[in-house]
Parts: sequence; structure tokens; C-alpha cells
Amino acid sequence: MKKIIYPGTFDPITNGHLDIAERASKLFDELIFVVANNPDKNPLFNVQERMEMISRSTGHLSNIKVVSTKNLTVDYARDNSALAIIRGLRHVSDFEYEFQMAMMNYNMAPEITTIFMMPSEKYVHLNSSVLKDIAKLKGDISEYVPGHVLEQLQSKLNS
Ligand code: ADP
Repeated sequence: MKKIIYPGTFDPITNGHLDIAERASKLFDELIFVVANNPDKNPLFNVQERMEMISRSTGHLSNIKVVSTKNLTVDYARDNSALAIIRGLRHVSDFEYEFQMAMMNYNMAPEITTIFMMPSEKYVHLNSSVLKDIAKLKGDISEYVPGHVLEQLQSKLNS
């Protein structure tokens, strides 16, 4: 059983995250979304809400699991016998941080491989923070998130 984990904040999940998950899930037997339970980041959605949005968005894929952790990503991977970590790379600006993270993870757990994947060009400029900013100002982000995520964003921002 070849497992890969996809760690992140996913506040909320976007079509860019989904693009990566769909591609990676085809290469492994199971893809596990590991949602960071890190209140220091002040997420808009709590962990439960973020996990539910991921589960709903990936209902069409049969080999997805969604969990959360307060621990280090490599510890989760090791404890759950995952072979690899998938991360999305959008711009050169992602590279520096991702490179440092991958190297630290490699030092802590050399048996776990970090894999980078690029999304479809359409999603290269997407990130959850920018989407939240646009949604706050009532801009149209319907192309970039699943319909139910859009509804939850609008109701959260209007509450
Ligand atoms: P983090 O807080 O770790 O940056 P995110 O939820 O923002 O968590 O992102 C999780 C992973 O998904 C990261 O590897 C990030 O690069 C990737 N990612 C985010 N948005 C996109 C996108 N539009 N296309 C491809 N990968 C993305």
C-alpha cells in the first residue's frame, strides 16, 4: 500500500490544491490530506470545517483520506508509513521556502521523499489568502473553488 501525504493549511481548499491532489492520487494507492491544526496561523475556518470541505471536494476520488495533526509532518508520515510528501510548486517564490522545508524534513526523516508538482497553468496564481481577500471585497472567485466552498466562504465572511 503506497501512501503519500499532502500537508497544508487548506484555509480553504482551492481548485489549485485539488489539481495537485487529483494528479498525485493517481500515482499512489492512498493520498492523505494532513490538515495543520495550528491556531497560530489564525485560520478563517477551524480544522473541522477545513477537513469537511476537503472531504466534500474530493468525494469523486476513491483513495483519499483527510486527517489533522498538531505534530510535525514527518512524524505523521512516519507513524502512518507514508512513503512521500507532496507539495505544490507555483512560482519561483515558492521554491525557497519549499526547498528549506524539504531539506529539513529530509534531515529529520531521510526515508521520506518530498515530491513537488506543478498545477495546471490556470491555478498557478492561486492561493487561499488572495482568494479570501477577493471574496471579502465581493469579487468573483467561482472559477477557483468548488461551489460549496464558495458558499461557506461567503457565509463566513458575511457573518
Ligand atoms: P501552507 O500553509 O503549508 O502553505 P497551503 O494550504 O497554502 O499550506 O498549501 C498546501 C500545499 O498546496 C503547498 O505545497 C502549496 O504550495 C500547495 N498549493 C497551494 N495553492 C496551490 C495552487 N494554486 N497550485 C498548486 N499548489 C498549491
